[in-house]
Amino acid sequence: MLLKNLTGLTLEELEAFAVEHGEKEFRGRQLFSWIYEKNMRSFEKMTNISKSFSQKLRHIARVGQLDLYTKNISPASGAVKYLFSLYDNNFIESVYIPEDKRRTLCISSQVGCALNCSFCATAKIGFKRNLSAGEIVDQVLFVESDIGEELTNIVFMGMGEPFKNYDQVIKAAQLINHPDGIAVGARRIVISTAGVADKIYRFSDEGHKFRLAVSLNSPFNIKREKLMPVTKKWDLESLMTAIKYYANKSKQLPTIEYVLFDGINDNHKDALELKRLLSKIPAKINIIPYNTSIPGFKRPEPEKVDQFIQWLLPLNAPVSVRWSKGDDIDAACGQLAGKYEKKGMSIKTGDE
Ligand code: SAH
Repeated sequence: MLLKNLTGLTLEELEAFAVEHGEKEFRGRQLFSWIYEKNMRSFEKMTNISKSFSQKLRHIARVGQLDLYTKNISPASGAVKYLFSLYDNNFIESVYIPEDKRRTLCISSQVGCALNCSFCATAKIGFKRNLSAGEIVDQVLFVESDIGEELTNIVFMGMGEPFKNYDQVIKAAQLINHPDGIAVGARRIVISTAGVADKIYRFSDEGHKFRLAVSLNSPFNIKREKLMPVTKKWDLESLMTAIKYYANKSKQLPTIEYVLFDGINDNHKDALELKRLLSKIPAKINIIPYNTSIPGFKRPEPEKVDQFIQWLLPLNAPVSVRWSKGDDIDAACGQLAGKYEKKGMSIKTGDE
């Protein structure tokens, strides 16, 4: 019999599960607390659950969706890249980034991605499938257990486009945020989209408190379309209108992400047009110097990054630079490609 995986179920779903199996509803609440608050995978150790129910659970259910395949630690930054295998032999990655008092986890929402951004390593895998809420939440539970500490920040900036897996991503974010469970504050959960505008409206209308980031990467439609083909569906005008709608509705500042590529989108004209576009929208700007992964794209020299920021400064909006950590282990933004083939090869040939 296929075991029912409880990771990813909401409180209400766990209560219904308990009742379905002849138990009182409050057993569901106990399970919720064991799974998400105490991060316990073994039914035997769930001490307040009756012996008979816990024995039954061992036969019909399990906790935990992911198996660790490999783990790489960056000597330079302490970032850790986790490669997980899924039940169907697909792979996903998550990256843990420690930084002063912050412990951030960058999580994946899909296996591969369909959006085909030309500079992104995940795009090269193509789209395999959406992750379930359980597979998303378990990245957080697994890593919290591995590091022995609670995470302070969660960013949906790993593999995939979160807004192309909207329902499962929101369900997962709500579970990660639930005060009786993992309890990461909503403002410390960032959902990053390549610009799926219809879901920006839905996200705004539903009134979620999670933070929104949008990857802009160029203020010109023609150039952006080459970098991010999703521009064909939602051009800059419709995207900016959606972002403005979000800003007005949520009263929150969206973050505009701008990956800086040498010689592609880092000149004065780009900065001026970016400034013009953003002058109408209250936003934070996050400049991300490109992490080398795809041939043809290069990170600009630090002086050019500084220059670009200087050009933006008259905007009067907060501008920050994110020098991603973990590029020494291919764990930085846009470098997640689930490179499992290599290890598979080495098992067969023993040459690595
Ligand atoms: N699909 C979502 C989330 C995943 S990518 C999105 O596009 O927002 C998260 C961020 O990493 C995006 O801003 C993306 O533009 C950026 N990115 C992708 N490849 C990168 C690379 N090699 N170096 C730096 N940033 C990169």
